[in-house]
Amino acid sequence: MSAQLIDGVLLSQQLRAEIAQRAAALTAKGNKPGLAVILVGEDPASHVYVRNKVKACGDVGFHSILEKYDADLSEAALLERIAALNNDPSIHGILVQMPLPRHINPNKVIEAISTSKDVDGYSVLSAGELMTGLTGFRPCTPYGCMKLIESTGYDLRGKHAVVIGRSNTVGKPMALLLLQANATVTICHSATADLAYHTRQADVVVAAVGRRNTLTADMVKPGAIVIDVGMNRDDSGKLCGDVDTAAVREVASHITPVPGGVGPMTITMLLMNTVEAAERG
Ligand code: NAP
Repeated sequence: MSAQLIDGVLLSQQLRAEIAQRAAALTAKGNKPGLAVILVGEDPASHVYVRNKVKACGDVGFHSILEKYDADLSEAALLERIAALNNDPSIHGILVQMPLPRHINPNKVIEAISTSKDVDGYSVLSAGELMTGLTGFRPCTPYGCMKLIESTGYDLRGKHAVVIGRSNTVGKPMALLLLQANATVTICHSATADLAYHTRQADVVVAAVGRRNTLTADMVKPGAIVIDVGMNRDDSGKLCGDVDTAAVREVASHITPVPGGVGPMTITMLLMNTVEAAERG
């Protein structure tokens, strides 16, 4: 069997077309969706990420502002700026690009963003809303993974899902979203005694580790759905995920490629959360 590739580029295009329609309807009512992106410091990768996010906003008809600050910006000044954006009616989502310079406490910054504008879904309140089934914003990467699974037409009810990784931004919210979809969920991490034992029983595996070849073909149940969140480099410097894709393709029923799987979905779900924030008013 050769698994079907789940095309994150195509799904992103479809979802972005839907988001653009919703944005146009809001704009016609005088409520154009707005996203503020704040970048502090000179991290080159962060500059690329924020540029992509701002460009994506333009493509779907959002208003966006990009505020760039030198690395010596004080924590107090950043918090003051966030407070102003919390009160700005033209801004529905606020995103502070991580990592921040060491003198700024990232938790304090995340908690300063109003929950109604926390489109990254990283605050304690947003996490609590997800945990308790309220309508907070879902963190973008796991939300994108759920859309990828949904796009295969697969019904998660009663199925066994294994998430490898327990970070606050990917692994844990991923497990909660799978649970909400009525899967039975196992979370594995670096102290899991026998990772393969768990993954071999999984109908769905989500790998969010940051180490290539974490999931190999012998660890996958025939016909499983495999979602590869990892972003790593192989020996030749090419982008690769956590999964040995070529070999796992021969066992799984569906698999996300890297690149072109989860990656494009993350910004798309940021746009989705922002349009939803604007619709909530
Ligand atoms: P993270 O915070 O470093 O978390 C990695 C998780 O993997 C941890 O929970 C860790 O366990 C677990 N782990 C490490 N080694 C393991 C092993 N040998 N067996 C089982 N579990 C192991 O990383 P993250 O932010 O969640 O991101 C994970 C990966 O996804 C990274 O490659 C990142 O670049 C990528 N990512 C991609 C996107 C995208 O848009 N495509 C977005 C976000 C992240 P412990 O908790 O025990 O340390």
